[in-house]
Amino acid sequence: MSVESIRSLIREIPDYPKPGVLFYDITPVLGDGPAFRELLELMVEPYRDAGITKVAGIEARGFTLAAPIAYILGAGFIPVRKAGKLPHDTHEETYELEYGVDSLEVHVDAASEGDRVLIVDDVIATGGTAGAVIALLNAVGAEVAGFSVFIELTFLNGRERMGAVPLHALLEF
Ligand code: AMP
Repeated sequence: MSVESIRSLIREIPDYPKPGVLFYDITPVLGDGPAFRELLELMVEPYRDAGITKVAGIEARGFTLAAPIAYILGAGFIPVRKAGKLPHDTHEETYELEYGVDSLEVHVDAASEGDRVLIVDDVIATGGTAGAVIALLNAVGAEVAGFSVFIELTFLNGRERMGAVPLHALLEF
């Protein structure tokens, strides 16, 4: 299955979750067995021999891609969650949204020095989420080796908020 066939399965929903936003719904890709498998293989490809020890996924859509990619690489999985959801001691990072702020957390012992972490998410838009997750992983002492994303919304320049962390996007809109 080609990247173009995967692209054709993405559903564009205007004005969701609020007026003016064009939402990229990836659930038809997740729901198609061959497309889902090919998507995971393509996202993992640049990192096969990169010495990745852990894969971090961002709640909740990011989990659907990050956990199977961790499995393919034989790496551990790190859940990055909204504030208040993780039971043990955490690091917290607050970041700006279009309106207001939000917080993400990671367990203090989720990774440590010597870990090479790959971050995985479905969409990078403004890059606010990406910047916060990179800061969280740096706070626990891990090296962030890369950020693999299904869809990059290039007009929002999210890349600029990722510092030196290389971004690999399968599709650009
Ligand atoms: P941002 O922090 O602005 O880069 O937003 C990234 C997060 O918001 C990702 O985890 C996406 O799941 C979600 N997101 C933002 N914009 C969209 C969009 N247009 N379509 C689908 N998901 C989006």
